[in-house]
Parts: sequence; structure tokens; C-alpha cells
Amino acid sequence: MKKTIRDIAVANKVVFVRVDFNVPIKEGIIKDDNRIVQALPTIRYLVNAKAKVVLLSHLGKVDHKNPENTENDKKKNNMAPVAIALKKLLGEKINVAFTPVAVGSEVNSAVSLLKGGDVLLLQNTRFEKGEEKNDLTLAKAWADLADAFVMDAFGSAHRAHASTYGIPSLLKERGKDTALGFLVEKEVLALSKCVSNVERPYVAILGGAKVSDKIKVIEVLLDKVDVLIIGGGMSYTFAKAQGFKIGTSLLDEAQIDFAKNCLEKGKGKLLLPIDRIIANDFSNPSQVREDSAADIPDDFMGLDIGPKTRTLFANALKGAKTVFWNGPMGVFEDSRYDKGTIAICEAIANLKGAFTVIGGGDSAAATAQFGFYDKFSHVSTGGGASLEMIENEGHLPGIDVIEEKNA
Ligand code: AMP
Repeated sequence: MKKTIRDIAVANKVVFVRVDFNVPIKEGIIKDDNRIVQALPTIRYLVNAKAKVVLLSHLGKVDHKNPENTENDKKKNNMAPVAIALKKLLGEKINVAFTPVAVGSEVNSAVSLLKGGDVLLLQNTRFEKGEEKNDLTLAKAWADLADAFVMDAFGSAHRAHASTYGIPSLLKERGKDTALGFLVEKEVLALSKCVSNVERPYVAILGGAKVSDKIKVIEVLLDKVDVLIIGGGMSYTFAKAQGFKIGTSLLDEAQIDFAKNCLEKGKGKLLLPIDRIIANDFSNPSQVREDSAADIPDDFMGLDIGPKTRTLFANALKGAKTVFWNGPMGVFEDSRYDKGTIAICEAIANLKGAFTVIGGGDSAAATAQFGFYDKFSHVSTGGGASLEMIENEGHLPGIDVIEEKNA
């Protein structure tokens, strides 16, 4: 068991907290503040315990190879709007400062001015070239300021970067405290239940666009689950592997052999769509219709699972005690192709006494969009991280690096 913030002394200490403030921002406006909201319990706890709280997070991508792109990316992914939103959410009684840089003398003096219970947010960690390379000099510049480190960025825990891995590694070497925040603790507890000592029947549902993103998780889940349901764009590579015509549907050509192996290995537990919604164009179709023939016509593409498949999948979910879901069943962003994803939301929401986990990303967005967010046991904040957690049997670098409770 990892240490959590309850296990470490924080009063009047400089506590660096890696949060996940990678929120969608358009022209300076935050479109969804859920990730900031999810970090509040840890921040509030530390503030109440009179820690000097230093928050750091990445935001979007910054291309350091092409200087023109670097400047544009920095403009687009400035953390300043997040500082304003955070201030509002925390309320007037808490001092929230922001440094427009992530590292250097301005940060050093802002940290030295902090009093117990104050909060300081640093600029986007990816403004620094060394962040994604886990550069030692960068990690040291941060670690030198910190008395303790708290990991609360589940969405970044699968990345060994300077702010997620470098700082806690250095602090541990120096005998300083490292711990998990409340959000990561909650994520680990929930996802662990999908990895070991799983309550059965265990049904996993995978969807979304690409097979290649999910190869490892498909392999691992095939060993673990009682039923593996595959829908969404990735199901057409499996249909192709079975020898069916798939028209212009999404195809991951390089993964056809992998799909064939899965079909063999997954006999009896792999469930694929038996009908679909097809259209003759992606964004501007003149024909959209249900189709349950074995082969899809040459000039049509499959964009959602069909009504028979909705029933097939819902029946397969009945009685499940553990459910893990990642990836929509169709192009749910378009109301012509959202019924499959909604049907899965409903089927999972109707389960009694089951532990149900949504693995972040688009499926989490879909559950929120369709009003099912509260119906699941756990909706992960990390798409990539939750998949990697399952792939790696519960291990992620940003969590493994944190001290054990009884070390
Ligand atoms: P992923 O990031 O791999 O989970 O993919 C999510 C995306 O897959 C969503 O934006 C969906 O619109 C898209 N998607 C799901 N089903 C299909 C499909 N049948 N054809 C094309 N795109 C799809």
C-alpha cells in the first residue's frame, strides 16, 4: 500500500502537488473544469493542514522542435486561465498565486513567500523542454524547493516525466516524503478491482477508433474476463479478419493478423457486433440505415452498432459483477450514431450490485453527455492511464515511484 497525504506531515512544509489540470481550453475559455474540481479535495485538505501548496501540471502539447510551433503552443496552453478558475473554485479565503513561468528565480521567490495554507500554481510544466524527457536538472530545480511531493494527477501517472517521476525520485533519495493524493488513491482502488481479485462475472467492453491503441489491453483482458465485448470503429478490423466485407468502414490493416489471433484465443468469450448503422458518407450522408447482412456494401461505412447488437451486448452484461468499459460503440458525437453508446450506458446503469468502471477518455465524455455519469461506480479521469493500469497489472510509473506505507 502506498502512503497517502494522510500519512505525511505537511504543516508549514512546501508540498509540491502534481495535479492534472489538462483541461480543454479554447481561446482562453475553459470548456470543462472537471479535472480542476476533481483535484480540490486534496488541495483543500493540504490548505486546511497549513501546507504551503505548490501545484504543477501540464496543459496540452508543446512542440519544442519547431520554434514557431513552440511559441504558438505556449500561447494556446498558458495556465493563466486555470489559475483564475482555481481561485474562484477555492473561494476568497484562500490565497492563490500564479507564476507565468514553471521554473527559475520567479518561482523560487514565489515559493519563499508562501505561508502555511497558501496555494501557488506554476506555469504549464511542458513549457520546459526537459519535462517530457524526465530531465534531471529540471526535476532538481523543482525538488530543491520541495519538502514533500504528492501525486494527484492520475491522467499523467502513466508518464515518467520530470514532474511525475523525477521530483519524487529525488525526494525519496533525500529521505523526504512522497504520497498519493485523494484522487489518485480513489483511482487506484477502483482500477485495482478490475485487475486482481476481480468479482465475477467480469465483462469488459472496448470500442473507439483504433485497434492499435488497444492491442495490449485486449490481450490482457482476454485472459482476465468472462466476456470481452468489442464494438465501435475497431470492430471492423475484426469483421475483416473474419472474412467479411466492411465497405469503407475504419480498418486497421496492420492489425488484421492480431485480430485473427484474438478471434482464435477468444473463442467463447469474445463478442462482436451482428448488425450496424451504415451510411454512405461520414459527415454528409444521403443514406443512413440499419444493416444486418454479413457484408457491408462497398460504398458504405459502419458508424454505430445496430439494434440487434444493442440487445446482444445488453444481455451479455446482465448479471455481471465487474464491468470495465473504454471506448464508444459508434460516432456518439453525432446523434445519428449515438444509440449504441447510449444503450451500453443504460445496460451498465441498470446492473444491480455490480462494480462498474469507465476508463476515461471518450466513454467518460459520453456518459456525462448522456446523463449517466452518476450511475457508475467509478469514472476514471485518465483514459490512457486507466488502460495502461490494466495492461500493466496495476502498475504505473508515477504511482510505483511513491513510497510504500510500511517502507
Ligand atoms: P478512441 O479514442 O480510440 O477511444 O476513439 C474514440 C472515437 O472513435 C470517437 O471520437 C468516436 O467518434 C470514434 N468512433 C467510434 N466508432 C466509430 C466508427 N464506427 N467509425 C468511425 N469512428 C468511430
